[in-house]
Amino acid sequence: MANEILSYLEMCQREKMSLQRGMNFRAGDNYSIILMSQRTNAPYRDRIEDDGTTLIYEGHDEPKRNDLPDPKKVDQPAVTNRGTLTENGKFARAAEQFKRREGRAERVRVYEKIRTGIWSYNGLFHLVDSWVETDGRREVFKFKLVAVDDETFTSDQQSGDLESTRLIPSAVKVAVWRRDGGKCVRCGATDNLHFDHVIPYAKGGTSLRAENIQLLCARHNLAKRDRIE
Ligand SMILES: [Zn+2]
Repeated sequence: MANEILSYLEMCQREKMSLQRGMNFRAGDNYSIILMSQRTNAPYRDRIEDDGTTLIYEGHDEPKRNDLPDPKKVDQPAVTNRGTLTENGKFARAAEQFKRREGRAERVRVYEKIRTGIWSYNGLFHLVDSWVETDGRREVFKFKLVAVDDETFTSDQQSGDLESTRLIPSAVKVAVWRRDGGKCVRCGATDNLHFDHVIPYAKGGTSLRAENIQLLCARHNLAKRDRIE
């Protein structure tokens, strides 16, 4: 479920793979996986727009190699020197196919790094666009992804409830994690944690301020939802 907090190991166990790269086209049976970060020292510039429903994700460089120029100083490639598509190329092709109405939007699960070893599941997105732009020194890929209802949670969620598809800004997540000490504010549990809206988004609560977000374990998160619905 979106806003769930996972260790790196839990994230890999859930996806049944060792997630070493940020971009993983079709890593799942019918979906892709990307890892994002908005931390100040993050290697790529990912940003959230449109009140938390749109992610603009930067493409990735090829791994560093001694016999090739510094990947940070050359345009991000769509094709490797062996002639196969890079992850940039695969995601860009999927976005082009969607824009030409040759297929459904690629489904992408997005995980976000909160701090070392701590990740948040940001939910399921559709890849709807891609382009190349200059960052002032070189050309980089950009991918536009829009949040959609989380497939793992639709059965016990009212339709039209966008709460799980509103992204909580990273700075808020980091502040909440610190303030609550990485523990459920009700019982002190340190596993199965979620970022919970104190006042639900649907009832006017904001995602943008730490005062309205708290850490809850799965049990207390569900108990609260039962009471509200
Ligand atoms: Zn709890």
